[in-house]
Amino acid sequence: MKNFITKIIKKDLLNKKIHKIKTRFPPEPNGYLHIGHAISIFLNFEIAKYFKGECYLRFDDTNPNVNGKKYINSIKKDINWLGFTWDDKEKYASDYFDIFYYYAVKLIKKNLAYVDELSKEEIKKFRGTIKEKGIASPYRNRSVKKNLQMFEKMKMGEIQEGKACLRAKINMHSPSLVLRDPVLYRIRFKEHYKTKKDWIIYPTYDFSHCISDAIEGITHSLCTIEFQENRYLYNWILKNLEIQNFSKQYEFSRLNIEYNVTSKRFIKKLIKNKIIQNWKDPRILTISSLKNRGYTSDTIIEFCKKIGITKKEKNISISVLQNCARKKLENCFRVMAIINPIKVVIESIPDNFVKVIEVYNHPKKKDFGKRKIIFTKEIYIEKSDFSTIEKKNYKRLVLGKKVKLRYSYIIKAKKIIQDKFGNIVTILCKHYENKSLKSIKNIGIIHWISKKYAKKAIFYIYKNLFNKKFPEYKENLCSQIKKNSLVKKLGFIDISSKILRKKRFQFERIGYFIFDKSLSKINKTLVFRKIVGIKKKIF
Ligand code: ATP
Ligand code: MG
Repeated sequence: MKNFITKIIKKDLLNKKIHKIKTRFPPEPNGYLHIGHAISIFLNFEIAKYFKGECYLRFDDTNPNVNGKKYINSIKKDINWLGFTWDDKEKYASDYFDIFYYYAVKLIKKNLAYVDELSKEEIKKFRGTIKEKGIASPYRNRSVKKNLQMFEKMKMGEIQEGKACLRAKINMHSPSLVLRDPVLYRIRFKEHYKTKKDWIIYPTYDFSHCISDAIEGITHSLCTIEFQENRYLYNWILKNLEIQNFSKQYEFSRLNIEYNVTSKRFIKKLIKNKIIQNWKDPRILTISSLKNRGYTSDTIIEFCKKIGITKKEKNISISVLQNCARKKLENCFRVMAIINPIKVVIESIPDNFVKVIEVYNHPKKKDFGKRKIIFTKEIYIEKSDFSTIEKKNYKRLVLGKKVKLRYSYIIKAKKIIQDKFGNIVTILCKHYENKSLKSIKNIGIIHWISKKYAKKAIFYIYKNLFNKKFPEYKENLCSQIKKNSLVKKLGFIDISSKILRKKRFQFERIGYFIFDKSLSKINKTLVFRKIVGIKKKIF
């Protein structure tokens, strides 16, 4: 692992600035983890491992409006699934509420914080802009005594929500908006899932995060780039609280994946609007949905390694993740499946002809063993593997031409049978012994399944959920959603039930699929869900 953060850590260790690395992954339990979080998980846990340090899992549960309970288990499960553990280093910011309060009082006593009674809108207006200086609140110069009284009132529930808040007294003229007297504490009458009715005032992220890091002795506090300016505030708070040797914050860029969203808020909106069923829907990029979709955890880790950590903007194509998946799925058993079937009758084969062919389960791994497939007069091939006219680079079955059936004979398409709407329903063919293969250069090879021995299967095929490369949270949701992002196809498979235990397969020339036992039960037919296509698309 090598990136600008590991470089800094190496230096810090070498200079004996620190002796043991401590990092933390601080999820807010307000949703499931997504692929963006995986980057942060990988970074924090892996760095700790690499430098023989420790990584804390800290739930940033300071917001009482969020029912953390609902999400804590899913977050823990997902981190474990990715292969990381934290032993007893499981912390909750809400465990530190007393300490946050103590420090808030300390700042007030040092005349570095005051209770403001401006409304949220007024505070925003008074803050100014990058071009305009901020204006001091009329409550800014209250006495320490008055501030302590007012803060106590806030704590006791004697002031209504939105009517007062605690602000740091920094600089209303600072070029950085973050430093123009940021809010440290606000009133929330909502019951907290953990501390119940103990508190009526709750700290903001800026106030609680740096103190939590200090309490746990975090050495390197790694966060995403949007907190770059907050670093000054992070340092201001800890310095003024006279906390020694506090952690240093370093920022890295957020991961965005094209045609996807990596934001819990956005995913919630998709669920609320019934665009997707839940957090595990295979069309989004939560860790749970990737797992559900059939991705392996080592695929996600491989992806994190590949993406790395930088400060540059990270808009990544989904194909990067898909390539990692292909690499990790390479060892799957090969199986033939027909997703859009069309019937082929090989007239030169006798009616009751049955030929058992033994084929390898994996072309490169002979030790994976063999399985039996059956060839008969009537077979299915993919619709897209047949054309009545010749096309450029189309090495498949063309009317009047030859193609090789994988593991079997060469066939020539002689005639087509159409229904009354003009759809091709059957292709009539003639077969040739393989001996003649040499004489036909450049012949294409297609896959097939015996009609008589085929097993019915349903294939769930997923497309991008969004039609926009970078979906916008604030825009109309429906206009950004692609229609038919889930297509269900009824086709066939040559699989034996013994092999089904394998779960993941490569359907030759199509892609990698995962067998879904519970959907199979519901549908009373074998169901396979597509993980990722193979690189060369056939349809
Ligand atoms: P969301 O927008 O999904 O709610 P968040 O940053 O608010 O994201 P947190 O639960 O607060 O979610 O994040 C925990 C950690 O994961 C933070 O350190 C955050 O910086 C990091 N993180 C979140 N999203 C990404 C992302 N897309 N890329 C990299 N790191 C991320
Ligand atoms: Mg957050």
